[in-house]
Amino acid sequence: MKRERSEHLFEKAKNYFPGGVNSPVRAFRSVGGTPLFIQKGKGSRIWDADGNVFIDYCCSWGPLILGHAPDEVVEAVKTSVEKGSSFGAPTSLENDLADLILSNNPFIEKIRFVSSGTEAVMSAIRLARGVTGRSKILKFEGCYHGHVDSLLVKAGSGLVTFGNTSSAGVPESFVNETIVVPLDNEKAVEEAFVKFSNEIACVIIEPIPANNGLLLQRKEFLQFLREICDKNNSLLLFDEVISGFRVGFTGAAGLFGMRPDIITYGKIIGGGLPVGAYGASAAIMGNISPEGGVYQAGTLSGNPVAMSAGIAQLTECLKPGFYVDLERKTKYLIDEILRLTPAELHDRFKFFSVGSIFWIAFTSENAIRSAEAIDADSMSYFRVLHKELLERGIYLGPSGYEVGFVSDAHSVEDLRITAKAFAETLPIALAQE
Ligand SMILES: *Cc1c(COP(=O)(O)O)cnc(C)c1O
Repeated sequence: MKRERSEHLFEKAKNYFPGGVNSPVRAFRSVGGTPLFIQKGKGSRIWDADGNVFIDYCCSWGPLILGHAPDEVVEAVKTSVEKGSSFGAPTSLENDLADLILSNNPFIEKIRFVSSGTEAVMSAIRLARGVTGRSKILKFEGCYHGHVDSLLVKAGSGLVTFGNTSSAGVPESFVNETIVVPLDNEKAVEEAFVKFSNEIACVIIEPIPANNGLLLQRKEFLQFLREICDKNNSLLLFDEVISGFRVGFTGAAGLFGMRPDIITYGKIIGGGLPVGAYGASAAIMGNISPEGGVYQAGTLSGNPVAMSAGIAQLTECLKPGFYVDLERKTKYLIDEILRLTPAELHDRFKFFSVGSIFWIAFTSENAIRSAEAIDADSMSYFRVLHKELLERGIYLGPSGYEVGFVSDAHSVEDLRITAKAFAETLPIALAQE
């Protein structure tokens, strides 16, 4: 596979950007080699600067549920941008996207659009603190919520701890407001509520943790969180930046039939343009300025071009059978891979999936529910898998901790080609010592 152009562009980019990129995981550091510079995408495929073509399962890390450059979204964006790209004044497009979401989602009554998932989470936490008048938050090891200061925190050594920062530049005093506990562990959460009774503003969780492997939670654990939050007058915050509009139009809340107090969205909601959002009951959202005292604002919030892309994409997602079809395709892909790989390898890797999200783990366990349960050494298998799949025209996100996404644009033929490539590649990856 030719890489000359990508290599050249990456060398240049290193002069401009730290590590040559504008977001760290793009640098390919956990798989090695040079990141591919992408020139264009259409449907299930992307083309790099050297003219190589790949079937893409990264899908911009989740937003592209219709695949690349879907006609509906492209047309909507063109039409919108010709009328002006931003006004800093309300447009009817904001109403339209809000109506599309709220009239199809029983879990939130009001919404506020922002420009990224990080911004949505940051604002939602401020809202939870404003509503409860408390300052501590409880998060789980193995969930990612964007690069918000108080969330760049990893577990310390005990079961219930204040975290340690996972980034330089985060003040100790911020970290002291964040309690970090393991996923899938009721006892740890109970201990935290005993230790910090009346101090916890909210419990924040990815109800389908998909940023550190796919750590599918027991429904009872999520229900337990609902109950303990109620008992302690704390808010339950579902971070659905990945799972929202992905595992169903109403995300994990709909899948589990559970009502969190605040939900954050991102990724799919903007149709590939930068949009985030947070929503809650009308009463809770009434605390946001200018209605209430919790300040939050944005020059490009509710941007008309981004709203148009979101409307076009979510309109497609609402069509009957959309999510059923996506899930069926994802199951087909996994089944085909298993069918085509030698049976003696089947206890050495597992596919975990929900809806159109999938993750391969090199494990013999039947469930992995916490970050601690992932074997870091097994990532060496993924490095080989990733490289060998690229050679065969299959593009996965460049880290074994990242999940894959099937889009509406992936055809059965794409999935067949992909399964064959996995079947060739898995024995090579597993032959590594
Ligand atoms: C991607 C993601 C974020 C951050 O969103 P950005 O748009 O990258 O800022 C937050 N939470 C979850 C669950 C995510 O997957």
